[in-house]
Amino acid sequence: MPFTISHFVASVAPSATLAVSAKAAAMRADGVDVLSLSAGEPDFDTPDFIKDAAIKAIRDGKTKYTDVRGIGDLRAAIAAKFKRENGLSYSPEEVLVSCGAKQSVYNVFHALLNPGDEVIIPAPCWVSYPEMARLVGAKPVIVPAPAERDFNPTREALERAATRRTRMIVFSTPGNPTGAVFSRATLETIADFARARDLLIISDEIYEKLLYDGAQHLSIASLSDDAKARTVVVNGHSKTYAMTGWRIGYAAGPRAVIHAMGNIQSHTTSNPNTPAQYAALAALTADQKFLDPFIAAFDRRRRALAEGLARLPGVACRMPQGAFYAFPDFSALYGRKIGGFEVRDSLTCATALLEGAHVATVPGEGFCADAHQRFSYAVRDSAIADGLARLAKFLAG
Ligand SMILES: *Cc1c(COP(=O)(O)O)cnc(C)c1O
Repeated sequence: MPFTISHFVASVAPSATLAVSAKAAAMRADGVDVLSLSAGEPDFDTPDFIKDAAIKAIRDGKTKYTDVRGIGDLRAAIAAKFKRENGLSYSPEEVLVSCGAKQSVYNVFHALLNPGDEVIIPAPCWVSYPEMARLVGAKPVIVPAPAERDFNPTREALERAATRRTRMIVFSTPGNPTGAVFSRATLETIADFARARDLLIISDEIYEKLLYDGAQHLSIASLSDDAKARTVVVNGHSKTYAMTGWRIGYAAGPRAVIHAMGNIQSHTTSNPNTPAQYAALAALTADQKFLDPFIAAFDRRRRALAEGLARLPGVACRMPQGAFYAFPDFSALYGRKIGGFEVRDSLTCATALLEGAHVATVPGEGFCADAHQRFSYAVRDSAIADGLARLAKFLAG
């Protein structure tokens, strides 16, 4: 066969989750009124002043290649943001702008991992961390974190997962899919664990501004000089500024790592989209008060969704403190037949909710948490009420 998929790429399993979203799309095409609570992006439009900055950049002829690492003004603005909001001092040379936070995470894995290296991933985790580890030939080691601890991993579980080959730990806080915020104690535990084992830390902080109930964001890199020296912080504009399609993310860390990541980028994508970089600069340098109405809307929907889910029979749901997801546990229903559907695991549960209640969710298996379903509240308020009513009717059925 002339086309044999490389070992590393072949090791990346096609997501079973895709089958659920394909089914939802097919039902919609057949005219079924499917209510989607599966979105992974804000429902808000990108604010006009951000769009205007991109339009102006295009009119001003800012349409050519830039520095592979991103324009100097944007890297300086990102460095200033880290100083102002996270208490972290990086020079613009220690900042890289990428085509989304996703590319930043991939660049770090590619730059730092060798085949056979192990990456510790507290779970529930973002879908792409295990697959990206596999893409570079490394081994993802999943460490389940208990829901009762708001999905904060324990030191004991981390220690049990560590081997001679462990090189890195990666996590997001606030988390996707959980909406959980790691406590200061958890971050101190992770930093101490990483110091004791000489590990790299990848801290994905893309939801840092989407926080509720007075929760505060703390970057693990800001805990100590040692933590900063072994951490690459990843962040981006997609979630905070409703800019998913613009593809702007960034990373900050030790100069040598950022340099290696820039090298990868120079031979793969080159610079991120040029007008989008000017839009990103406008978003970052504006008074951040424009985010308040978005956060207030998310907060209101969060309560409605999480409280409603927790009231459903057989469903346990914690109140998330960040991002725009709720991550209820449906496992009390596993082994039962509901509305004619056998529910055995997160995939069959998602299928039952989709076909039986016409509500689309994301099954937990993709996040290494098969007891759960991910619900998004980045939807209009009426969709939450409608979705909860459909679920209540179906589960009572
Ligand atoms: C959405 C998301 C990303 C990727 O965002 P980009 O659009 O690539 O910037 C990274 N990490 C987490 C946890 C996410 O939810």
